[in-house]
Amino acid sequence: MGKKVLILGGGPCGLSAAWELSKSGCNVTVLEKESRVGGLCVTNEYKGYRFDLGGHRFISGDSDLIAKVSKMMGGELLISKRKSVILFGGKTYQYPLSARDVFFKLGLWTNLKALITYALAAFKNLILEKEDVSFEDWVVSRFGRTLYNIFFGPYTEKLWGISPKLISSDWASQRISLISLRDVFFRIFKLRRDTPRTYAQWFYYPRHGIGQMFEMIADDIVKTGGEILLNANVTGLDIHDNTVSGVCYKHNGADKQVECDTVISTIPLPDIIRAFPGHLTKDILWHTDALRFRAVRFLNILVDLTDISENTWMYVSGKRYVMTRIQEPKRRSPFNAPAGKTSIMLELPCSANDEIWSCSPERLLERCVNDLKELGIHIDGKIIDYFTTQVTHGYPVYSLDYRVHRSELLHFLDTYKNLISCGRQGSFRYIFMDTAMEMGIAAALSTMVKDTHKKEDIRLLCSDKAVVEVSCVMR
Ligand SMILES: Cc1cc2nc3c(=O)[nH]c(=O)nc-3n(C[C@H](O)[C@H](O)[C@H](O)COP(=O)(O)OP(=O)(O)OC[C@H]3O[C@@H](n4cnc5c(N)ncnc54)[C@H](O)[C@@H]3O)c2cc1C
Repeated sequence: MGKKVLILGGGPCGLSAAWELSKSGCNVTVLEKESRVGGLCVTNEYKGYRFDLGGHRFISGDSDLIAKVSKMMGGELLISKRKSVILFGGKTYQYPLSARDVFFKLGLWTNLKALITYALAAFKNLILEKEDVSFEDWVVSRFGRTLYNIFFGPYTEKLWGISPKLISSDWASQRISLISLRDVFFRIFKLRRDTPRTYAQWFYYPRHGIGQMFEMIADDIVKTGGEILLNANVTGLDIHDNTVSGVCYKHNGADKQVECDTVISTIPLPDIIRAFPGHLTKDILWHTDALRFRAVRFLNILVDLTDISENTWMYVSGKRYVMTRIQEPKRRSPFNAPAGKTSIMLELPCSANDEIWSCSPERLLERCVNDLKELGIHIDGKIIDYFTTQVTHGYPVYSLDYRVHRSELLHFLDTYKNLISCGRQGSFRYIFMDTAMEMGIAAALSTMVKDTHKKEDIRLLCSDKAVVEVSCVMR
């Protein structure tokens, strides 16, 4: 057998790397700490209903990736249409925000206020020429204070649990589809007709939930000679001469160690750094502790109704409502609920161990059903059953200085030539599953090519210089 590649983490990134390597006949093993593969892309089945961790959809600008996945899944990969809305102030707005919709639904007085605050922000920009540091700066300077207070500020604060003043402007520039209020007016008066960025109307989705895609990839890896070890929690690295020579892990509670030639790590960046005992300076530890992740709890409700709405996602912007998004899983695949029934999944961003995280499912249900009623969604008396699920590493928190910490840590890892850290958790980037998969494939290729220049190019894809925002362009 050729050289031994170890992949840490069996989510989309790690599995895609292993898929690429096993198909090429490489000696590859995936170490995954959970009892199943998929990472954030798993589906929980209960009483004939299926719930993802947050309702995923698969979109990619990479036609090779789509072709690969479609070929592997055949008829199991469905195509669905996206329709998302924002619920605010008793009205329903299109998502992404449509200029025309906002203009006509906000009412004369609010439009006037929006115009004045936008003019003030534009004037301030002109004389101060200040850089937009925070999310708040970025949005206010492009949309004015009024629209910020209505749509952007409260949602963002609820999602991240901190003031948008403390969130990097990077997050806004990656996620907001309209460029500025000027852009909005241009669109209303048809002076700009191009499609606003970040919008994809159609998406791919497996018949039995997003988890099916990664279970099938895992089957393919094993069929082509790769190995996947579940319940294998990576705890340490063996280092000799700036090279990782082995990985320590706990397998079903027992301490194990495995030798390797190359490591592709997709576990959270702070965790792979902490796996270097004895090699860490105070500085590195400080950067490691500074990177944080936002957790998410999901309330999954089985409902005795045929349908709730036609929307894939409903964004809830008001701060007084506990959820950020409401989803109806059957809008992704009709097989996510039994015939004639439906379900609802609510996303509740939180911090591990805070009030939402530790709230009993009964209390959470009571609170959410009341919120839903206020939002015009009536399911009381129709609830068949419910359960909650949660993830600790839902979103990498883009604090104001996250780039500095991330870049120092990736720079530290770069000194270990046979180790690549990639994926959403491993590169600490707010990326989607397709980009995580592309990163995994690139990392796998970098372990196979002999040409050092090409190898460095591929490594760059996973490094701090990567332009990973490509995947956001279509959302
Ligand atoms: C609420 C929500 C909704 C989303 N919706 C979409 C969507 O609609 N479309 C989309 O494309 N993307 C979506 N995403 C993003 C998508 O889930 C991620 O981009 C993708 O899962 C990243 O894959 P990954 O392999 O990099 O990381 P992960 O999926 O997080 O996988 C990392 C893996 O590493 C394992 N691991 C961690 N520590 C260890 C350890 N010590 N030892 C061994 N294994 C370990 C974990 O158990 C996990 O399996 C969403 C994310 C969230 C939170």
